[in-house]
Amino acid sequence: MRLTEIYDQNKPVISFEVFPPKTDDGLAPLLAELKKLKNFKPGLISVTYGAGGATQGRSLKLLEKISTELNLELMPHLTCIGSSEQSILSFLQKISGWGVENILALRGDYPRNNLDYQPESDVFKHAADLVHFTRQRVSLSIAAAGFPEKHPEAESLQSDINHLTEKVRAGAEAVFTQLFFDNQYYYDYVKSVRAAGITAPVIPGIWTITNLKQVQKTAELSRARIPENLLQKLQAAAEKEVRKIGINHAAAQIRDLIKHGAPGIHLYTLNKADAVTEVLQKVSIS
Ligand SMILES: Cc1cc2nc3c(=O)[nH]c(=O)nc-3n(C[C@H](O)[C@H](O)[C@H](O)COP(=O)(O)OP(=O)(O)OC[C@H]3O[C@@H](n4cnc5c(N)ncnc54)[C@H](O)[C@@H]3O)c2cc1C
Repeated sequence: MRLTEIYDQNKPVISFEVFPPKTDDGLAPLLAELKKLKNFKPGLISVTYGAGGATQGRSLKLLEKISTELNLELMPHLTCIGSSEQSILSFLQKISGWGVENILALRGDYPRNNLDYQPESDVFKHAADLVHFTRQRVSLSIAAAGFPEKHPEAESLQSDINHLTEKVRAGAEAVFTQLFFDNQYYYDYVKSVRAAGITAPVIPGIWTITNLKQVQKTAELSRARIPENLLQKLQAAAEKEVRKIGINHAAAQIRDLIKHGAPGIHLYTLNKADAVTEVLQKVSIS
């Protein structure tokens, strides 16, 4: 099913994000976790893509497994920075051949801590170039990334939204947001995105906090601000309590987003079903 059909329903669509395991031994356990998450009838499973295309093979292996062994709608991520047209096209053709109908088109970042990395090409500069290329070559339905707290490199939120407009003009039909811990960023962002003339669904990304150090690292990388009162609560809590606070916070965010009419909820799973299951059990989605 294409993105436009998936988000044309009168109830919020649940989607889950997973990443390719480092080795083949990790594939079966991940499929087992996804089987558990099938109970929530997800509209999409998204699969991340390694920065710079260096791990394209691992994404493809996981995508092939999911498409052959689980009857779940897929949205592979694809980054273009440093990649050649040929390697991008080969990925797009492979997934199309498996019956995949959607793609999340991203610029990506050059791999950090990999001094040996050599870009194949500099033909793709921005995600809009990939959206345009994809639209010309295959019939996939395309999504793009949005940043409620501004992309770290952008001069301003408005200039970032102007660039989002370019992605939509090139053919992006849905926007998946960076994670955020304070819904107000999302509500303000959607208002600005609509004011810029974008009508595509904007799907909020939700991270479940289960570990303080991990969330602090994630927040630093993504530049998502942790609200001060939440941070203080997490810092004062024992380890087991952190998980409980995190699950309650994610559930409260989702309840509020649904109340405000969000078209769906995109949950980062970190390849484990347990935390997001606990979150969704606290939320009624109907
Ligand atoms: C939902 C989601 C999923 C993600 N999944 C992955 C993944 O699987 N793998 C991965 O490596 N990374 C992933 N990322 C991270 C993403 O690749 C990075 O955040 C990257 O830095 C930006 O990607 P983009 O597609 O938003 O790029 P772009 O839309 O190209 O934007 C990047 C920056 O360039 C600016 N810009 C855009 N167009 C122009 C222009 N014409 N002129 C000047 N400036 C411009 C933008 O304002 C922004 O600051 C994901 C991010 C999100 C939100």
